[in-house]
Amino acid sequence: MIGSLLPPSGVTPLNFSPGPTSLAAEVQTSIKALFDAERMCSMYLSHRSPEFLDILANVVQRCRMAMNIPEQYEILFMHGGGHGQFAAVPLNLCPKGDEKATYLVNGTWSKRALSDASKYCRPIVVSSENTDGTFTHNPSFEHLDPESKYVYLCSNETVNGIELHQLPKLSIKAPLVIDASSDFSTKPIDWLGSNVGVLYACASKNIGHPGLTLCVIRKDLLGTPSQLCPGVLCYTTNAREGNLWNTIATFNVEVVNIFMQWMIAQGGVHEMERRAIAKSSMLYDLIDKSEGFYSTPIADPSIRSRMNIPFDVAGGDEETTRDFLIQGWEQGIVGLRTLTPFGVGKYLRASLYNGVSVHQAKVLADFMAGFLKTYRTKDSAA
Ligand SMILES: *Cc1c(COP(=O)(O)O)cnc(C)c1O
Repeated sequence: MIGSLLPPSGVTPLNFSPGPTSLAAEVQTSIKALFDAERMCSMYLSHRSPEFLDILANVVQRCRMAMNIPEQYEILFMHGGGHGQFAAVPLNLCPKGDEKATYLVNGTWSKRALSDASKYCRPIVVSSENTDGTFTHNPSFEHLDPESKYVYLCSNETVNGIELHQLPKLSIKAPLVIDASSDFSTKPIDWLGSNVGVLYACASKNIGHPGLTLCVIRKDLLGTPSQLCPGVLCYTTNAREGNLWNTIATFNVEVVNIFMQWMIAQGGVHEMERRAIAKSSMLYDLIDKSEGFYSTPIADPSIRSRMNIPFDVAGGDEETTRDFLIQGWEQGIVGLRTLTPFGVGKYLRASLYNGVSVHQAKVLADFMAGFLKTYRTKDSAA
């Protein structure tokens, strides 16, 4: 069944889902241990108790340290996911509601962000959408409207497989607003050098599980939300109240805290980046050397996503693709064909977030190499 993640009984799943997805085994073990610990687990701690305040202070400090976030930025844990931020950004940065904001559209998520934002500001659209609705490159970052309040950009288009391995340095003064939902914590960010105004990431891809969104906001952008901005989406209100204006997602915050602790112990963001490069290179190399048996829609290696690798099997042939998925599934490989808000799509997709180890990516690469070999042998016998 499309989207099923259940492996055969007795087989350990290898989860290549686009998200939500698995966290590293050590992180999952630490989460389980929260329930056995002497002190109460954050799932049932009051968000205003000293015990939780301690966790909150820890996680803010760890995020700052792990991602090198300068003091000029507030770190917030908000509700509403990535989608909440599609509205929160203009509601916080465009007080009048008719200000211009540039939307660089390089895939399905930035396109969706644009459509929600157009209710609350006047977007200027710079899109790289092809006439057939696909996205295979970035739009130009030159000649942007200098009157824009901000320039919106998704640093990893999860569905299309396009990533900015570094944030651009724009020639206009407007701050960048970055949707880093699917790549946050997998590469360093030059916060001030790239003029980042706001960066957000829903937790469920790399740093935790659904229900919490990490938002990093430069302090000079606080203080002028639209009057219509709901409190739960308001950066100014949440920053002023130290993340406790309403009930923060306590358990989710503790999970992010455990994740950050793990990430720092593993060697931090540079190590996460090294692994992301190692994992994705294995798959791209295999695809590129398969003489067209596997193919990926993004030709330019400099924008290929390290997080999400779309690919097809035997030119998309249904029967071969089905054999591929079933044989993979027998080994526990799941999550390669999933439903998205944008349909099932033409391509399978391997997602290699922080929770996927280099070894697990190798299992997938080895399986793909083996499948190709068997296919070729059968083909030449026929
Ligand atoms: C998953 C994702 C979203 C959507 O996040 P929700 O938490 O489902 O609202 C937004 N942007 C990007 C880039 C994503 O990968």
